[in-house]
Amino acid sequence: MVDYRKIFVHNRRWAKRKRTLHPGFFRRHFNKQKPDFLYIGCSDSRVSVEKLMGVDIGEVFVHRNIANIVSDDDENVKAVIQYAVEVLKVQHIVVAGHTGCGGIKASLEDCSKGAIDQWLQKVKKVYTKHQKRLEKIEDEATMLDEFSKLNVLEQCQNIAHLDCVKKSIANTGFPIIHPWMYDMSNGLLHDLDKNKK
Ligand SMILES: [Zn+2]
Repeated sequence: MVDYRKIFVHNRRWAKRKRTLHPGFFRRHFNKQKPDFLYIGCSDSRVSVEKLMGVDIGEVFVHRNIANIVSDDDENVKAVIQYAVEVLKVQHIVVAGHTGCGGIKASLEDCSKGAIDQWLQKVKKVYTKHQKRLEKIEDEATMLDEFSKLNVLEQCQNIAHLDCVKKSIANTGFPIIHPWMYDMSNGLLHDLDKNKK
């Protein structure tokens, strides 16, 4: 069994180090948060927001679910986006998919009925929309990663259609919505927006 107590040992060591190196660090963050990013990504344990973006506490507002879905009938993600846009006034919203996504793969398999299956229907909708293009790809892993990319682009469009986002963009020009893919095989992050360098 994993010794969960090691988490607390690590935590005490980390907090002490922060206090020593950056006096006032916790007090400063306790008073307010002003992140520049909202990150919407997959729940997969192998995708660490802080590590892959190289950011620290207070820099990214985060929402994660299986296969990074933004669905109009999901009040959870919609509340997170509204809060990020209207209250935190984030300048960037990132939707990050990743290669080898278990949620993407599972959406094409027969699952038991239940919450997982219901959730995966939202993912499968993306496949159905792009089925003709995806079924031409013979290699399964390549097809699934392409499906993941299309899923990210689809979720970015869903964000762009939300009222709070449309209103904010019309008034301020922000947020900018970024489709990203994280390649688990080499740790590299890729921008799917071909117009950006
Ligand atoms: Zn995933």
